[in-house]
Amino acid sequence: MSVTASELEDFRAETRAWLAEYCPPGARGPGPVSNGSSKIKLTDADTLLWLERMVERGWTVPNWPREYGGGGLSNDEYLILLQEMAAINARPALSSFGTSMIGPTLLEFGSEDQKQRHLPRIARAEVEWCQGYSEPGSGSDLASLSTRAVDHGDHFLINGQKIWTSGAHHADWMFCLVRTDPDAPKHEGISFVLLPMDQAGVEVRPIRLISGESRFNETFFTDAVADKADLVGELNKGWTVGKRLLQHERSGMESLVEGGAKQDVMSLVAEAKRCLGMDGAHLADPAYRDELLKYEMDNRVFRLAQRRAVEESEGGTPGAVTSIFKVYGSELQQTYYDLMLRMRGVRGFGDIMSDNDQFTGSELSGTREWLYYRAASIYSGSNEVQRNIIAKRVLGLPD
Ligand SMILES: Cc1cc2nc3c(=O)[nH]c(=O)nc-3n(C[C@H](O)[C@H](O)[C@H](O)COP(=O)(O)OP(=O)(O)OC[C@H]3O[C@@H](n4cnc5c(N)ncnc54)[C@H](O)[C@@H]3O)c2cc1C
Repeated sequence: MSVTASELEDFRAETRAWLAEYCPPGARGPGPVSNGSSKIKLTDADTLLWLERMVERGWTVPNWPREYGGGGLSNDEYLILLQEMAAINARPALSSFGTSMIGPTLLEFGSEDQKQRHLPRIARAEVEWCQGYSEPGSGSDLASLSTRAVDHGDHFLINGQKIWTSGAHHADWMFCLVRTDPDAPKHEGISFVLLPMDQAGVEVRPIRLISGESRFNETFFTDAVADKADLVGELNKGWTVGKRLLQHERSGMESLVEGGAKQDVMSLVAEAKRCLGMDGAHLADPAYRDELLKYEMDNRVFRLAQRRAVEESEGGTPGAVTSIFKVYGSELQQTYYDLMLRMRGVRGFGDIMSDNDQFTGSELSGTREWLYYRAASIYSGSNEVQRNIIAKRVLGLPD
């Protein structure tokens, strides 16, 4: 059923009023965001209240069907909600691998039983997921993966190793690509399974980064168990499911929020004023001003192109086009943090220097984000590999 322009305006007015009344002050601006993990206890009262209210309304997953805990919003309504949240600087109440990756994939490929068991728990922020795809030697060439799952009646026994498993140390469940037919051609012997992380057969070892943090892990399986009821799609057809999940990861409404709200040019101008004591209208360096404007134009064009592709896909997620989002979006993120770092000059070296007391919290987190976004052109499939996909699947060029 199509929604008229005036109905959308009514929705905008109601949404604005609801947010004004129910988004607590402590849920606006930077701060903690739940990822659903049962192992991370959030303590900030406003963050918890905000989560509770958004769960009740189905707006942790605004465009999922209501029967699975969603808000049942159309794409247009969802976009309005995001715009109204951005206008008051409201943080998302929940941001997780559940909402952005496995949830949409289960909506498309999951059995009714899988949807009923897993989706409402994601929507209610009761569970966080991790992604068991990459293996040592199987990153870009993911289909060469060798973690083996063997049929044991009502369950599979899994043996092997995954690597770079972000958040595995606080995840409750993993979605995982496993080899179920070692004799078939490599893309055809893979299945997509779900398994709980808290079991004897799963061992998580943190990988320490140069910063001392450990965001990702090696994950080892020794007779780990995945129930047959948690095989998603058909046996040996997991490549199709796994690829679709990657398209969700690289695309969609989530990235409209990420790219839109956080990294706009006004935050750079505000930082220029703060760092340099300048009026934003009189940024001194014309070359730098040109770069700022170029960034802002590219950012806006990107968001519009992304929105058009989402609209054209009529509620679904665009397919191989998401590789364009991934390449362009990650390069924009890197440009944003480059511009920020250059503007800060020596103030941009916090966290790299030994004496961090000399830097403000936002300077320190800026340096960390600049470092972190170096990885954006690698994770979720490196940009070189995305360019191969664009050449083949979007432009139709020969192999
Ligand atoms: C921050 C971060 C978080 C991550 N989180 C997860 C996670 O949660 N779960 C998970 O499963 N994985 C995760 N990964 C792993 C990520 O998916 C892989 O790093 C990525 O797919 C690249 O694989 P690789 O590291 O094995 O590099 P390789 O595949 O060894 O590639 C090395 C280089 O060769 C280039 N290259 C390879 N093949 C080609 C080709 N055909 N054409 C042109 N160039 C090519 C690549 O672009 C790259 O520059 C994460 C990675 C990072 C950085």
